[in-house]
Amino acid sequence: MPTARELVEQNKDRYLGWLTEACSIQSLDGQPDELAKMAKWVEDKLSGLGAAMSRLTYESAPDAILGVLGSGDRSVLIYDHYDVQPVDPIELWKSSPFTPEIRDDKLYARGCADNKGDLVARLAGLEVYKELYGEPPVTVKFLVEGEEETGSESFERITTQYREELAADGCIWEGMGIDHVGRPELVFGAKGLAYVELYYRGLAEDQHSSIAVIAPSPVWHMIEALSTLRSPGGEVLIDGFYDAVVGATEDDMKLLEELPFEAEAERERMGIESFVGDATDLELVRRYYFEPTCNIAGIVSGFTVPGASKTVLPKEILVKIDMRLVPNQDPDDIVAKLRKHLDSRGFSDIGINRFSNEHPVRSPSDSLIARAALAACSDVFEEKPAVSPMMIGTGPMYPVASTLGIPTVSPAGICRPDSNIHAPNENCRIDDFLHIIEYTVAWLKRFGELEE
Ligand SMILES: [Zn+2]
Repeated sequence: MPTARELVEQNKDRYLGWLTEACSIQSLDGQPDELAKMAKWVEDKLSGLGAAMSRLTYESAPDAILGVLGSGDRSVLIYDHYDVQPVDPIELWKSSPFTPEIRDDKLYARGCADNKGDLVARLAGLEVYKELYGEPPVTVKFLVEGEEETGSESFERITTQYREELAADGCIWEGMGIDHVGRPELVFGAKGLAYVELYYRGLAEDQHSSIAVIAPSPVWHMIEALSTLRSPGGEVLIDGFYDAVVGATEDDMKLLEELPFEAEAERERMGIESFVGDATDLELVRRYYFEPTCNIAGIVSGFTVPGASKTVLPKEILVKIDMRLVPNQDPDDIVAKLRKHLDSRGFSDIGINRFSNEHPVRSPSDSLIARAALAACSDVFEEKPAVSPMMIGTGPMYPVASTLGIPTVSPAGICRPDSNIHAPNENCRIDDFLHIIEYTVAWLKRFGELEE
């Protein structure tokens, strides 16, 4: 009998063909035909593997695809998404984003790393598993949604509506990655996000700036408000912002102590003298994983042409703010607190528009699926895994890990720090793609065999 690695190697061209097909479909928000084409592609692949198919629908959201295969009382839910990020700025791409191209052992295409590479690797992994060992000894529920890149707005409704179909003993979430030195990464949760736009219009029209002696400046008004939101040391000053925060436990700190975190390299990469609050060593790592933020993502107002001057008193200002949240902060509660904070300081005239809204989430690191994913790393990767409590970014994991209560792990995926996800020239290494196929076989096997 061949090994998983040999079988993957033998079928390399076939699986790369699948990835190329998937990455040629322009499954972008706002392109319903292409999204539908991609949904159909996933459906065909899964039913080709013998899965019983269904579509999970909710209003006008792109259909989520569910394929169920294998058998047995133990069950695993696999989550991926089939939509991709926009391609702009298109002029910075070296090859066309939807015409996958291989250069220097990397495949370049929009979505190849986020998240079609993982999706296809898992499909291929299921095929390899079947060839090696027959039907999976556990029930595999493969869920692929089409709305992730725009915030998974319907995902919570879908998971609630189809909670019985989705119930499982463990969940393999959209992949983490492989770090810069080749260590497979594993996490058990994600930060949340409250994204708001603050806006203020204080004048009927833009004024000549000489009028600033008598007309109040909307821009200064907003800046005065912004300066009440955060201290220079990084502490968020919104009243009650930290009330619900559950800090790092002793076990978390042990995990963090072992985590390879290269502070000096990070500092150099960012071109900074010191980190926020002058944090160093373990405190820096704790901060990285366990602190929430209040970040200004953009400010729009007045005359902004670099290298030119024009005097003006702008009539209005718009500020984009993203707040990365940690367990158990609630995005609704945080925005309500922001409103109250502004009102009580004389800024009730500043409006708030809301955008992304995601709960932070954590899952146990010793669940069956977590143990299987961790143990399988040593079957495939030479490097020891880098295990962290939760990802510093955000994903719609909350409805599955918290609402449905399914222990969830985000295991190694094909994304590397230089994969340029969400950016021009997105890429994945062919070797990583093949490794993740093999890794899928390994964790599935481990999950079937592990004792409770
Ligand atoms: Zn993404």
